[in-house]
Amino acid sequence: MTQTHSLPSDSALQRPRPGPRTARLLVLMVALPLVVAAVVFTLAERYFLSEELEKAQGRLSLYRSTVVSQLERYSYLTYVLARDRMVIATAAGADRDALNDRLGAFAAQSGLDAIYLMDRSGLTISASNAGQPGSFVGQSYSFRPYFQDALRGTQGQFYGIGSTTGLPGYFFADAVTDGQGAVQGVIAIKLGLTQLEQAWRDAGETVFLANSDGVILLSSEPQRRYRTLQSLTEDQRERIRETRQFGDQPLEPLNWQPSQSNLASLGGTQLLHLTTDDLPNGWAVHYFSSRAPVTTRSTLVTAAIVIFAAGFIIMTQQRRTARIGAALRRSEAEEAQLREANDRLAIEIEERRAAERRLARTQDELERASRLAALGQLAASVTHELGQPIAAMRNHLTAAEFSGAAQGGFATRISGLVDRMESITRQLKFFARTQGDSIGAVDMRDVARAAVTLVEPNIAAADVRLDLRLSEAPVDVRGNRFRLEQVLTNLLRNAVDAMADSDRRDLTLSVGADGKTGWCEVSDTGHGLEGAALSDLQEPFFTTRGSGQGMGLGLAISASIVEEHAGKMSARDRPGGGSVFRVEIPLAEGEDDAE
Ligand code: ADP
Repeated sequence: MTQTHSLPSDSALQRPRPGPRTARLLVLMVALPLVVAAVVFTLAERYFLSEELEKAQGRLSLYRSTVVSQLERYSYLTYVLARDRMVIATAAGADRDALNDRLGAFAAQSGLDAIYLMDRSGLTISASNAGQPGSFVGQSYSFRPYFQDALRGTQGQFYGIGSTTGLPGYFFADAVTDGQGAVQGVIAIKLGLTQLEQAWRDAGETVFLANSDGVILLSSEPQRRYRTLQSLTEDQRERIRETRQFGDQPLEPLNWQPSQSNLASLGGTQLLHLTTDDLPNGWAVHYFSSRAPVTTRSTLVTAAIVIFAAGFIIMTQQRRTARIGAALRRSEAEEAQLREANDRLAIEIEERRAAERRLARTQDELERASRLAALGQLAASVTHELGQPIAAMRNHLTAAEFSGAAQGGFATRISGLVDRMESITRQLKFFARTQGDSIGAVDMRDVARAAVTLVEPNIAAADVRLDLRLSEAPVDVRGNRFRLEQVLTNLLRNAVDAMADSDRRDLTLSVGADGKTGWCEVSDTGHGLEGAALSDLQEPFFTTRGSGQGMGLGLAISASIVEEHAGKMSARDRPGGGSVFRVEIPLAEGEDDAE
């Protein structure tokens, strides 16, 4: 199988680079509040601006009405005066002093700057200020439009700077006629507007009144008076010069710039600007108010909302973080529990498997033990039943030999067969043995020597070279000498048999001790184990040898004896061919020889 995905590099593992998602989130986190703040600010500004404009509209109406009421209050007075007997008489040439006094009293009473009577040529013949410095008497106002209008029979109205006093004022004029309706003169009043202007100034607001030419007549700031809203045309200047409306005033343009609706920059400052132009004479009141409150309030509201929103978001975020943290801790705890349970389970599984293995082993042993027990019963009855006839046969044979009845090789052949039968029953007798064999310290070297003596005829017959390697020190194991001899005899016999077809026939018997164990090894150069396991070989009746040559009981008996001695038997292939059978028996520590 090929690995298709590559592992991330170390640095990538340590420092994850911000992905496009993170970048987008970052932009959103910065941009979104800005956009929201901008929207909130715009809305708040619109709201507060309309509120401020409404307020300004109120103020403007107020200023407009003061102008209108100021003018209207005196508009009828010239009409009344033109019909006054004394005025008519004076216009017709009567005594002027009396009228002077009368007009003086009227002016003082009504708060007018001046009341005066002109003849048909425009020359002032009587005035409220007669005899005072700057008196109108003797002055001609024929150039003034109000005089000309009055001569034509309509009421003259005019704003202008007094050509005599130099003080601005509003003039009303009406023609004075005699009984036949002939014009005898013109009666005029001059209304000073300085009080109105003063009132505006005291209010502390920015407001001015401009005429139809755009010349400022009254202003809350005196320096703006006689400035023009736009530069005058030559015609306009000519007309103003003729009527001497503004004396020597230069009539320079005002430093202002009306921009979009309701906004204007005045002297470089952006202000709210409202104007009314439904005043008489084409006049207009201009009212200005600061934009600062709008900006301040909008900023405050925006800040409040942004802070509230930020607080809300932070709080929600914190709550979310806490929730996630708790969930994380919970899941971590659960994971730990799960891991612990897993570990416990793994241990339990391992224990169960070990128990199963133990059980299987025990069952195997049990089966083996029961097989051996059955074998024991069978062996006991067979040896018992066969023992008698074999003994009888031996007796008959001996008797026949003595009597000379046995002829030729017949008796010898029968005797060989009886020997073989005895050997079989001897083997079987092992299983039928009775308990209580003596156990004690046995030197394995002695056991080995005895076994070799027993097998010697076989060794010689099979042309096997024996190498006996015994330890110099005694190897005292705990056991029964004869049984152990039986084991070794078996192993040696098997080894000799295994080498029957071999060219090299080397048999080695070694005895030694390791720690608390005495051991003995039988090594041959035969055909080896050929893949078989010792557990298979030591099954009763397992044999690879031909019929009549082996019963397959040798290893079964040997294993059983070794087991009785709390020992161990093992078998392995020998390097270079052949096999090695090893028997280990616990040493008899500090025990006296029981025999
Ligand atoms: P038997 O010798 O009667 O066959 P055993 O129980 O002694 O019975 O041996 C069982 C089998 O184990 C033998 O048939 C043989 O195949 C095998 N065996 C025993 N000893 C050796 C040995 N030294 N080398 C190879 N095989 C052996």
